[in-house]
Amino acid sequence: MNSFSDNIVSWYKENGRHDLPWRKNISPYSIWISEIMLQQTQVKTVIPYFNKFIEKYPNLDALLKASEDEILAQWSGLGFYRRAKNIYKACRVISEDFNSKLPTNINDLESLPGIGRSTAGAIMSIAFNEGHPILDANVKRVLGRYKKISFKTENEKQKKLWLISEELTPNKESFEYTQGIMDLGATHCSKSRPSCDLCPVSNDCASAFEEVSNKVSLRKAIQKPTIKLNFILPHTKNEILMHKKQTSEYWESLWIPIDGNEVKVKGGQKYSKIKVNHPLSHLNLDMKIKTFEIDKKYDLNSNLEYKWIKKSKVDEYAMPTPIKKVVSAL
Ligand code: SF4
Repeated sequence: MNSFSDNIVSWYKENGRHDLPWRKNISPYSIWISEIMLQQTQVKTVIPYFNKFIEKYPNLDALLKASEDEILAQWSGLGFYRRAKNIYKACRVISEDFNSKLPTNINDLESLPGIGRSTAGAIMSIAFNEGHPILDANVKRVLGRYKKISFKTENEKQKKLWLISEELTPNKESFEYTQGIMDLGATHCSKSRPSCDLCPVSNDCASAFEEVSNKVSLRKAIQKPTIKLNFILPHTKNEILMHKKQTSEYWESLWIPIDGNEVKVKGGQKYSKIKVNHPLSHLNLDMKIKTFEIDKKYDLNSNLEYKWIKKSKVDEYAMPTPIKKVVSAL
């Protein structure tokens, strides 16, 4: 062990977030699901979704029986739905190529959809206590500051950080080290207000006690495009008309209202217009949703995969949060 990892391990034993739900009854399966959920979402948001997911699919056998729609419905509201689609795809590979068991070595784990080097490293380190480097957003921040790296390109930054992670990851106490460095990045070495005075590696950290603006910034501001959407949402007393989105630029495979530029509504006396702005990671959605109250449902003359969904069964369908809010109020 090196002094960096020694300090992180000791700190984790005393101060780690031991009560996180995926740190109780640890299994490769629960670590896989939690790591995928945590890829782009904060811990406090993930906790209820993780608990709900594990309640519905307590083990891999249960998950392997689920359809893509069912997994997406459990994911509803968590965002970044490609993660749920990849879990479904990974299940198919696990069933066909790995005898319905989660692989127990890093190369096979990395071959599964949605599992990159860092996620595979986390599963091996936490669930199997076998040291492998990881590089999630929190770990990048800790290592980047600790070594005060400089870089000209994104590629160079990644390469340098992986080398540092390889160099500092110990072979022993991988369980404690991996969770410790994740926790350090999420707590003391936070983005805007690092508390270096409480940090276990401040003695050797090249950026300790510097103003945040001087610390290595690992994130570039991104200008996001805005897409304007004109949805129509006809509904009867008991049902709403929705379609399953097939294209991938956003909300792929989720149930959303129909594009009013493509399909016209029949009838409809009472209507209201709702405006919703919703930021996604890569673009902003500027939505106008026109809801129509109609007497009778009808068939669409369209190739869309559409359905009149019972209002009482909305929770069984994967819908983006802003759409679910509108639909639930009808
Ligand atoms: S000393 Fe400060 S900047 Fe360095 S790793 Fe610790 S919290 Fe981060």
